Amino acid sequence: MSILESTAMPAYDATTALIVVDVQNDFADPRGSLHVQTGEQVVPLINEEIARALAAGARVFYTQDWHPESTPHFAKDGGTWPVHGVQETWGAELHPDLVVGGPVVRKGSNGEDGYSGFSMRDPVSGETVPTPLGDLLGEAGVTTLVVCGLATDYCVKATVLDGRDRGYPVTVLGNAIRAVNLAPGDGDRAVEEMFASGALLESRAALGPESGG
Ligand SMILES: [Zn+2]
Repeated sequence: MSILESTAMPAYDATTALIVVDVQNDFADPRGSLHVQTGEQVVPLINEEIARALAAGARVFYTQDWHPESTPHFAKDGGTWPVHGVQETWGAELHPDLVVGGPVVRKGSNGEDGYSGFSMRDPVSGETVPTPLGDLLGEAGVTTLVVCGLATDYCVKATVLDGRDRGYPVTVLGNAIRAVNLAPGDGDRAVEEMFASGALLESRAALGPESGG
C-alpha cells in the first residue's frame, strides 16, 4: 500500500460513523424497480467497509427509503420516480447480502421525498423535518462521517451535503457509490458538488475497479 492510499483512508474510531445509504432491493438488485446500474457491486465493498468500521469501534448507521404506496415523490402521483421503496415490500428491504450492524433510519414514511438521511422535505408544502439520524449521531458521540451507498446523485449527495451543513467532516467512499444518471453526467456533477462542499472523496484501490457508470 502506498503512503498516499494509507493517508487517504478514513481512520475509523469511536467518534466516526459509517453511513450506508439506501442499499435496498429496489436500487441494488437488478430486479428492483429503480435499479441503479451496477448498484449490486457496492454490496460486498460496503460489507468490507462495515467490518473495518466495527472492528475499529466506529458506529454504522443505515438509511432506508420507506415510502407509502402513494406519494408526490412517485411519477404516478405527479412526481419524478417509478414506485420504489414502498413500506413492507421486498423492494424496500435492505439487500439480503448487506451486513446490518447498526440502526436503520427510515425516511419518506409520511410521503416526504426523503433524499437525505438527515431530513425529509414535503414535496407539496416544501416543509423540511429531521429524521432521527442527527439525534442518533449526537447520542453516539459521533463527530466524523464516512458515507457510501446509493445513489450518488440523489440520496448520497443529499446526505453528504446535509452532513456538511451540520458541520461534520465527511469522507465519501468513491468506489462504493453508484449514480442514477437520469441525465448523463449527473453522477460526476454530484461528486463535484460534494467535493465543493468540503467533503473528501476517497477511492480506495482495495475496493476494486470503478464501474465508470
Ligand atoms: Zn425515494
